[in-house]
Amino acid sequence: MGKLFVISGSSGVGKGTVLKQFLNRNPQFKLSVSCTTRNPREGEVDGVNYFFLTKEDFLKCIENNEFLEWAEFSGNMYGTKGEYVKTKLSEGKNLILELDTVGALNVKSIIPESVLIFISPPSFEELEARLRGRHTETEEAIQKRLESTKYELENAKKFDYQVVNDDVERAVSELEQIMCN
Ligand code: 5GP
Repeated sequence: MGKLFVISGSSGVGKGTVLKQFLNRNPQFKLSVSCTTRNPREGEVDGVNYFFLTKEDFLKCIENNEFLEWAEFSGNMYGTKGEYVKTKLSEGKNLILELDTVGALNVKSIIPESVLIFISPPSFEELEARLRGRHTETEEAIQKRLESTKYELENAKKFDYQVVNDDVERAVSELEQIMCN
């Protein structure tokens, strides 16, 4: 059986970059692919970054109890299929779920041996600057994400580990110490 890790972090914290580098260096880990109702960003591919579902299809999956957990975040729905996680773990893969903090805490209550890691920004100001620098969202969407951040930092206190992304290389090494032993 593989091990299950859940990684959360505020949007714009650079969690994607840290994870990408971690995965390049540690191919025995696999990043889980979630379902979402949000539109693909430029360069995102269906089945690779997410399974992009219509709201109608997403609601059907909820009805059929297909999700291990799901959540609404910034006006969109996100969920991880239970069967998907079960299959990957039984194949012996160490699986990483990248979820919002509510989803992460839900997974912990269903699968207590899962390990929760929060990637936090060096500061709130730094985070706001990074989020604006992405130029992918409207001001309203950015404000919504910043609001969620305050709430997420509160939830993060219940996680097993917190890793500050002040420097990508350092953050990746810290993840390796937590996850590869
Ligand atoms: P984004 O739109 O930036 O890709 O993701 C927004 C948030 O949704 C992030 O915090 C991400 O970790 C979270 N997320 C992605 N997939 C899932 C999922 O399957 N379940 C839950 N609860 N959150 C998810």
